[in-house]
Amino acid sequence: MNEETKNFCYADIIVDISHESVDRPFTYRIPEALRGRLELGMSVAVPFGKGNRKRQGYVIDFRDSISFDESKVKEIEGIAQGDMAVDAILVRLAGWIRKQYGSTMITALKTVLPAKQKKRNLEKREICRLLSSEETEAFAKSLAQKNRPAMARLLSALAERERLPMELVREKLHISPVTISSLEKRGVIRTERVRIYRNPVEGSMEAAGKQDAFGKNRPKLSAAQQRIVDTVLQEYDIGVRNTYLIHGITGSGKTEVYMNLIEGCLKRGRQAILLIPEIALTYQTVVRFLKRFGNRVSVLHSGLSAGEKYDQCERAKAGDIDVIIGPRSALFTPFDNVGLIIMDEEHEPSYKSETMPKYHARETALYLAKLHGASVVLGSATPSLESYYRAKRGEYGFFYLGERLTGNVLPEVYPVDLRRELREGNRSIFSRKLQELMEDRLEKKQQVMLFLNRRGLAGFVSCRNCGHVMICPHCSVSLSEHKNGKLVCHYCGYEEPAVKTCPSCDSRYILGFKAGTEAVEEKLHQMYPKARVLRMDGDTTKKKDSYEKILSAFADREADILLGTQMIVKGHDFPAVTLVGVLAADMSLFAGDYRAAERTFQLLTQAAGRAGRGDVPGEVVIQSYQPEHYSIVHAAAQDYEGFYEEEILYREIGMYPPAAHLMAVLVTGPEEESAALLAKELAELAREGDNGELTVLGPGTATLSKLNDNYRFLFYIKCSDSKKLAKLRERMESYIQTLQNRSEQVQFDIDPMSGY
Ligand code: ADP
Ligand code: ZN
Ligand code: ZN
Repeated sequence: MNEETKNFCYADIIVDISHESVDRPFTYRIPEALRGRLELGMSVAVPFGKGNRKRQGYVIDFRDSISFDESKVKEIEGIAQGDMAVDAILVRLAGWIRKQYGSTMITALKTVLPAKQKKRNLEKREICRLLSSEETEAFAKSLAQKNRPAMARLLSALAERERLPMELVREKLHISPVTISSLEKRGVIRTERVRIYRNPVEGSMEAAGKQDAFGKNRPKLSAAQQRIVDTVLQEYDIGVRNTYLIHGITGSGKTEVYMNLIEGCLKRGRQAILLIPEIALTYQTVVRFLKRFGNRVSVLHSGLSAGEKYDQCERAKAGDIDVIIGPRSALFTPFDNVGLIIMDEEHEPSYKSETMPKYHARETALYLAKLHGASVVLGSATPSLESYYRAKRGEYGFFYLGERLTGNVLPEVYPVDLRRELREGNRSIFSRKLQELMEDRLEKKQQVMLFLNRRGLAGFVSCRNCGHVMICPHCSVSLSEHKNGKLVCHYCGYEEPAVKTCPSCDSRYILGFKAGTEAVEEKLHQMYPKARVLRMDGDTTKKKDSYEKILSAFADREADILLGTQMIVKGHDFPAVTLVGVLAADMSLFAGDYRAAERTFQLLTQAAGRAGRGDVPGEVVIQSYQPEHYSIVHAAAQDYEGFYEEEILYREIGMYPPAAHLMAVLVTGPEEESAALLAKELAELAREGDNGELTVLGPGTATLSKLNDNYRFLFYIKCSDSKKLAKLRERMESYIQTLQNRSEQVQFDIDPMSGY
């Protein structure tokens, strides 16, 4: 008996979700016998339409009353029998997402069932023989003697291979339709239509060459790698479905471990999902997996056409593939028997959806794994605070891989104090150390990567003389400069007037921090007119494929310097890069949200990892106004543990995730006053329910205070219990539903990955 649902008399049912009817649920009465036995996503039999035909439907919601005539309501017939179908798993997942993150059930369903839009099936024609190989060959010979060379040619080709594609027959063997139909009349061949799938990795398949099915060209796993594979699979075999975290530096062989685990999963007859950030889904990665798993593997990502996406889902359902690689949405591949979910670079912010429902792929993967009975493996060189915290508490199995298997050493890192540069008369964006090393590399014809780790929208204010940053006295995050000249905290709404001199050292060099890639590019041209510079940022990567093109051009040594935002730190390996410069580490450090230090540490560690991937050791220069900040100090020392210890303390004191939960509530609307009012009302509603268990911060204006003519207001709620937060969100949702003619939108974001 389900205590939560036993009091509901009605259920909303979606009937046959493969059709457009997904857009409208129907309400049914729950018979006495079934009360408390139904759950979200459960499959039930219902009478449907004029003839009351029996159809299968899914429970998507419960209600205790209805607003229309009781006599018009039909009754649920019973719980559908049989195994949970693929769709039922995904519907349950949608139900969970809705409950966890907030949105309508329809929106949640559309998130997990992306390929419901049916696309035309592709077909091709093939010719197949109806006789045995020997008979066909004999017939071919007799036709040749009768001087029918075309017929003979086709038949001897068919003697060798039972089926031939029509294209080949027409274009390569030069057989005419007349010849084909005359052979058909003789009853020796037949033309057939066969379904073919669009295959996004077909081209890469050829490049991958022969599948290495017997593992001749595989490296022998190191003891540390082998231990991970053995532990996960042995636990699997005794029925333990655990979550594991692999903390492994770049190049320590995580991907090799993933491949061995996937292989183990396939051997046990189950399917595997490998999540990687979209930006890391490069040709190189795909080819590596194709080599190992051949055409059993495919990809699913936003670059595919609708037809390609549809066909990958069809292939998954039909059992044509059993490994899928893709970004967060690949979780929703319609597999019926997933045994393993791997999430590489699990710390990446792109794993969080930016649109409602704002689900996190990690949490969602854990729930999906529960539904399937699958193991979960998380991997990262810089684990998220969440995962490391849980691993330390013993909730996750934990492994560490600390050595680069390619043999090359970690780079030398030089932190540079930009305050000192200024004091000693260097006002350029390039420190003297960085200039010296850049000149050296340009001379030696080695490559350089320059990196502006801009993040979020916040324009923080800092002193170029002493490094002092204007911080909110209540929230310990940096204040942002607003157009009206005020400094604003985006968590609690605290404001103060902009300062003219530094409160700490009286210098007049206290300014908003802005530096764009374009401006840096110009400086580079002035200083090194002969150097070839490639720039990569939001502007230069708008066009499809431009991201890959810039990276390949750099890999092919068509430029000396690659300058860009965090996009440049992923994907390709550049063996000729021996110098990485981080121009202003502070840019991500004071992004005005609680994850800023974590993100900075991750970005710096990743950037440093780009130097010295080839035979020549690399060097890294990290410039900042606060080289003593712990995230910079520990990144320079490549010391994750040290960083974690300090950061978790900050989270615990500030009650930020993972020590507690934080929910952002964003209200947007075309009218400033009414949007502000709704934000205020909702925040009050939250405060009313407070009995000391939660903290409400705000509301205030968002960093991005207006977007597409909509004003944006924001408040935050902190609470150690995520269930209480969810209850509160539901209360706010019901309140919003009672409002008439509302023009505002309200978005909820649990444990946000970025500021607003
Ligand atoms: P990560 O995913 O942690 O960055 P990879 O699995 O890509 O690491 O491995 C880095 C490099 O080391 C790759 O070129 C890979 O082929 C190689 N490698 C991985 N495991 C081994 C091993 N056991 N022995 C030798 N080379 C290995
Ligand atoms: Zn100062
Ligand atoms: Zn504040």
